[in-house]
Amino acid sequence: MNFHCFSMQVLHTIINLQNELSKDKGSDKTIGFVPTMGALHQGHLELVRRSVVENDVTVVSIFVNPTQFNDKTDLLKYPRNLQVDCDLLRETGCTYVFAPDADEIYPEPDTRRFDFGALANVMEGRFRPGHFNGVAQVVSRLFDIVKPDKAYFGEKDFQQLAIIRAMVKQLQLNIQIIACPIVREADGLAMSSRNIRLSDTQRKEAVFISKTLFDSREKQKDYTVPALKNQVIAQINAMPDLQVEYFEIVDGYTLQSIDNWNDTNYPVACIAVFAGEVRLIDKISY
Ligand code: AMP
Repeated sequence: MNFHCFSMQVLHTIINLQNELSKDKGSDKTIGFVPTMGALHQGHLELVRRSVVENDVTVVSIFVNPTQFNDKTDLLKYPRNLQVDCDLLRETGCTYVFAPDADEIYPEPDTRRFDFGALANVMEGRFRPGHFNGVAQVVSRLFDIVKPDKAYFGEKDFQQLAIIRAMVKQLQLNIQIIACPIVREADGLAMSSRNIRLSDTQRKEAVFISKTLFDSREKQKDYTVPALKNQVIAQINAMPDLQVEYFEIVDGYTLQSIDNWNDTNYPVACIAVFAGEVRLIDKISY
């Protein structure tokens, strides 16, 4: 136990959270914010620890946002355990956990339509229609409630980071967006709240996603972009329980696919794979 155990507060309403935050803002404290959907793991906790180091106060939101799920089964099966999450957060030095109900965030249906142009039409945007609109709805709402100085996002959701940056620009928000590297299991699998839904066989096979991505980095100089893409897809699909939804090598700024390595100085590979019913994503830079 450390002293942080006694200072973290769990709040469920906007009014209670804002009452607390107004005291902090009154004394000029800086506010770091980490939006999550709960079922926390070390990937989330790294974002929180970084926020705790860089800010006076850290707010972590736990909210499974219905508007970003295009697949209702995924929403229903999304793991939820507030008590365990709070126990983990107490150890990080987090100041406030904000865990609202859907009615609190959406007292009325959110009908806003964001336009992120080409950024939102590829990869996740192509295969999860409406997903990024829902992400922008909830994150803009949460930003408006918390009014943080800095907000922390993981590079695992690489496209989401680009969308959030675009949204901050569009809405002219004075919030610094901080990108944090992917935290992986010891065998390389990117940590995800969805990993606990994997069967033993699926979990064993899932390691081939990151392994194949890392191998592709070694091979990069010997292959053209299309040849490397085909090879990665074929290798992962060769596993009985894995099915690649997309694998793209893109310019890390525009997220548009490249045909040649010299099309960009920031090549990034992004992948989505189904392990049975569970959808996993990962990303590496070359
Ligand atoms: P989620 O709860 O899945 O919406 O994730 C909340 C935040 O944690 C997002 O910014 C994610 O990108 C980030 N995150 C999730 N998994 C990881 C990971 N393995 N490494 C780093 N960040 C992560």
